[in-house]
Amino acid sequence: MAVCEILSVGTEILLGDILNTNSRYLSLELAKLGISVLRHTTVGDNAERLAAALKTALDRSDIVIATGGLGPTADDITRDVCCEVMGFGLELDEAIAKKIKDYFDSKGYDMPESNLRQAYVPVGGTVFTNNHGTAPGLGLKKNGKCVAILPGPPYEMAPMFHESVVPFLAEYADGAIVSHTVRTMGIGESAMAENVADLLEMENPTVAPYAKKGEALLRVTAKAHSEGEAEELCKPVIEEIKKRLGGYVYGIDSESIEQRVVELLKENNLKIATAESCTAGYIPKRITDIAGASSVFEYGAITYSNEMKEKVLGVKKETLIKYGAVSEQTAREMAAGIRRVSGADIGISVTGIAGPGSDGTNKPVGLCFIALDAADLQVCEKIETGKNDREYNRWVTASRALNLARKYIEEKGEKSK
Ligand code: ATP
Ligand code: MG
Repeated sequence: MAVCEILSVGTEILLGDILNTNSRYLSLELAKLGISVLRHTTVGDNAERLAAALKTALDRSDIVIATGGLGPTADDITRDVCCEVMGFGLELDEAIAKKIKDYFDSKGYDMPESNLRQAYVPVGGTVFTNNHGTAPGLGLKKNGKCVAILPGPPYEMAPMFHESVVPFLAEYADGAIVSHTVRTMGIGESAMAENVADLLEMENPTVAPYAKKGEALLRVTAKAHSEGEAEELCKPVIEEIKKRLGGYVYGIDSESIEQRVVELLKENNLKIATAESCTAGYIPKRITDIAGASSVFEYGAITYSNEMKEKVLGVKKETLIKYGAVSEQTAREMAAGIRRVSGADIGISVTGIAGPGSDGTNKPVGLCFIALDAADLQVCEKIETGKNDREYNRWVTASRALNLARKYIEEKGEKSK
């Protein structure tokens, strides 16, 4: 399998001014071609260090893909340095020079002379047309090594990669890697891993557990001669995981919990309403991030004070006095209240302590109660995140509340089958 290294050029990446999304993008796309990316390297806009990094990369890889530093300014040195290291001379390409001049004319600007640097191309190299900017990309092949140089802006780099670099790398593509992520909620990472322990030993596909923002995930990755074959290898393993983890699995790949909930509400012709204390709008925000949510989302109340919990949701004063705002009893009454007030089919509520401070009681930060109220079910779950991280606690609580709605609708659907 061909080995590739991605070389990102740009001082702004090293300074942390921008996030290196190009490397991530290229890694994902190269995997689909069956090209192994074994290293990501980043260097600043410095000719000496770039030349050294490229030489090192060429020593250990068949392919180097460099991005950034192809522009017209003095710090854009990638073209010159890469051609020098690979032993390619540069010459002015009149057609490209004209295209750049025309581009400036069409915008009504005078072209700075320095822009013509972008029209220099390697003698005996390949030029990748830039359909979204001025700097063309360049391809250099020599002695079994291959270098592709792409512009830094992602909206120029990505189309150029597909239009020109994929065909340029055709001789190296010898298979495909396909990866899918099974997403679960409500089960811890280690409990999940225990459940599928034997699958974690597999070699193709490989199955790897990881945790992210309160979710436990399993990544299934297969290698094969073609994308289709790799998909076929993944399929039965994903099915087996779904069987073992049952109701904990809520989605595959990038599907979010809110997406799943909106989908289920639509399919079942149900409406939802929310009453929140500590998450203060997170749940409606996430539901309404999904296009078409207006047909399923009825009402969202943020009732931070006890007074509003009583007034808007009808939570009993005695409940608040006896058990406190952060309690199962209050959560249940909030959910019932919002369902009554809105007339929705499902009422969801959240009350908890997001942190960093507690609420004056002895209750720990990260303690939250989430409740669901429907005609045929009233439930409440207690969550203890164990983290003193306001943002994390709010996100995870909102996710778990959405998950409560998902489980209710899925189970209801199962029963009516
Ligand atoms: P330009 O003609 O715009 O100068 P360039 O090819 O010279 O393009 P750079 O100057 O290195 O590219 O970067 C231009 C912009 O592209 C950066 O400011 C940044 O917004 C984006 N960019 C560059 N490299 C990356 C990267 N690795 N990941 C994400 N964005 C990047
Ligand atoms: Mg630049």
